[in-house]
Amino acid sequence: MALRDIFSRNDGSSMRPEDVPFTPVKSGDTGKRVALLDSFEAAGLGVFWSTDAAGRITYLTPQALDALDVAADEVLGKKLTDIVSLDKSIDEQRSERPLKFLLTSQSTISNTTVRVDASDKEVWWEISGKPELDANGNFRGYRGSAKDISDTREKQINAERMARFDALTGLSNRYRMEEQLAKRLKAYRALKRSCAILMLDLDRFKHVNDTLGHPAGDALLKQVAARITQIVGDKGEIGRLGGDEFLIILPDMDDRGDLGDLGQRLIQMISQPYSIDGARAIIGTSIGIAIAPYDGVETEGIMKAVDLALYAAKGGGRGRYRFYATELEDGAKMRHALEEDLRDALVKDELEMHYQPLVSAKTHKVTGFEALIRWTHPERGSVSPGLFIPVAEEIDIIKPMGEWALKRVCKEAVEWPVPLKVAVNVSAIQFAHDDFPQIVEQALVASGLDPQRLVLEITESVFVGDTERAGRMFKELKKLNVQLALDDFGTGYSSLSYLRNAPFDKIKIDQSFVRGSTEKNNNNAAIMSAIVGLAGALDMETVAEGVETKDELKLVKARGADIIQGYIFSAALPQETVMERLHEGDLEYEAKGPDKYRADRMTVYRKIGVIHEDARYKAVLRNLSKTGAMIEGLADVPLGTQFVLDLGDGQLAVCTVRRSNGSKQGVEFETPLISDGADGLCTRHRVSPYEIEAAGRPLEALGQDAFAVLMQERMGAGGNKKFLEVEVAPPRLSYGIAA
Ligand code: C2E
Ligand code: CA
Ligand code: CA
Repeated sequence: MALRDIFSRNDGSSMRPEDVPFTPVKSGDTGKRVALLDSFEAAGLGVFWSTDAAGRITYLTPQALDALDVAADEVLGKKLTDIVSLDKSIDEQRSERPLKFLLTSQSTISNTTVRVDASDKEVWWEISGKPELDANGNFRGYRGSAKDISDTREKQINAERMARFDALTGLSNRYRMEEQLAKRLKAYRALKRSCAILMLDLDRFKHVNDTLGHPAGDALLKQVAARITQIVGDKGEIGRLGGDEFLIILPDMDDRGDLGDLGQRLIQMISQPYSIDGARAIIGTSIGIAIAPYDGVETEGIMKAVDLALYAAKGGGRGRYRFYATELEDGAKMRHALEEDLRDALVKDELEMHYQPLVSAKTHKVTGFEALIRWTHPERGSVSPGLFIPVAEEIDIIKPMGEWALKRVCKEAVEWPVPLKVAVNVSAIQFAHDDFPQIVEQALVASGLDPQRLVLEITESVFVGDTERAGRMFKELKKLNVQLALDDFGTGYSSLSYLRNAPFDKIKIDQSFVRGSTEKNNNNAAIMSAIVGLAGALDMETVAEGVETKDELKLVKARGADIIQGYIFSAALPQETVMERLHEGDLEYEAKGPDKYRADRMTVYRKIGVIHEDARYKAVLRNLSKTGAMIEGLADVPLGTQFVLDLGDGQLAVCTVRRSNGSKQGVEFETPLISDGADGLCTRHRVSPYEIEAAGRPLEALGQDAFAVLMQERMGAGGNKKFLEVEVAPPRLSYGIAA
């Protein structure tokens, strides 16, 4: 059959298309029009194709077969969709209907970019085709053409790559940042240089985007970029990876003290309020920090490390920086387990509400209780709400959880024999839902609780974004006759302007102001006075949170706080205990606690190495502060002994034994440790992987036993042990945090 026949074939057959025997078309016949087309094909100017009614390819220009490097029978008889597929990127952009759909619906195909899958080469076509109908209007198949656009398409892809800068902020884009990082890591390796990577992710950016709109979000990103640029200057390269993620590459930085300072400065700068077209916006940022070659040698490894550090920073409560450490790998797994377990906690009835007394400063009589959620995991034991509430917010279950808490608290408070007030914590995410007042109303109605007894504790973060909306929300809540308390006051954005207009009945002074307020040269007490004065002027009560010691109690009373909450009076109690006390009519609380606050060392349980002369011992770290530590596991060590503690990940700390008692020693560090960004501590410097490489090992990121590896090279396995090693029993663990 000739090409002419394809364009004029019409046999009027009434068989089903599938039943028609398959007959390929041969080219080569003559006729003027056909000759023209033939020469067109021969010159490689055009490709023609046709299908039968069943969609099987009956013809494809032979020159095209040559160009594709495929045999005729690899194409003929196949469906068109078997040999080409739609360009994915274009598919998404234009949301074009799939090729298969066009073909089965017998629609016209016009200038559609497809990849030719039949060929091993990277060939792109732009195809067009029309359904061919017979005299009776029956579909006979397609006739179409194709144009090879592989060249232009490659150029197009390159052009996209050439655009290495983010159009919005003018910073490098992800492509360029990854390219830069790869280049630098490769060059620095030979020169044994280091390089720090900071990854930033804005906190609450989505909230601004949602409430103020995308143009405002864009404007905000530009301002953030400007602030980062101002701080980093020409010391490093800054890029926007997309969305609200930024990356900073800092050559020759490996001092974690300096990096922590920089992280803190970035957080502070980015957390300052923004003005966007007259609207006020407040966001924060979390930062992950990783350093090559310590935490990764190749781009992929270091990006994974910085990503994990960022994830940990966000998990640690946001507005923080966090250094990468190998233990974060376990943390990510723990976090995943926590997420899974938390989803079930509500249905499995593992949650409970406990109640902490709020005590009058003057009479020491209980005036009300704050409801605090408690989760007891069947295997892991009790999990802190400070840990799981942020996770519940992130995985979007805080709304049902908050609703549950509200209902439970109202129901339990109704049972109390004395009608005291009860405060419930409200997450900013609950507050962001328009139906929140209805939910409060439902809880009140269902329980029959007097609305005047219910206090909602709200944090400053609800003022982010649309302040008018927050105002409307407050009005609706006040209409229900409930009370409002401003929680954690002083920790957030410290803008006092909203206080004047917001109808709060109480201000809760955050416990960070109470802590340390009795120390010399600390201005917390002065801040407390200022808050109390301000609250008085606005006719609001003040609650001092977290009072633990007698001297703190004395101070907060002297500074004029009306109500006191803290371990000095009582921790949160289960409903039964509250019921018992109230039944007995025992409303007065006695102040019980230490006289003074002692900056407690962090209690930990961590296996470490202790190096003494040429011997290496196994020991356990029991507590840790910036200046010293308590270790356990070596017997009878004399005072003044010099140790090097191997804290893992190549972290070495030189120290001297200052106290020694049986198998426990108190040691003092030669150089103080620094914060790891979360609650932990780390050394400023680490053993360099370049050193380990120099000892004949391949260059790789530090592992937990980095130094042990090096020591083994240097002094063999054993060494001369002077002290006896003692077994130490491990504690019970709750999501990786020593209980
Ligand atoms: P918060 O609202 O600031 O609650 C006070 C926290 O301080 C409670 O921690 C309480 O046990 C603790 N605390 C009380 N007195 C003292 C003291 O003298 N010393 C010290 N060191 N701590 C004291 P908790 O129960 O672990 O709760 C932590 C946070 O979790 C709460 O902080 C609150 O933000 C959140 N949370 C707790 N329950 C709920 C809830 O039902 N819903 C929501 N959305 N958040 C909740
Ligand atoms: Ca609270
Ligand atoms: Ca609080």
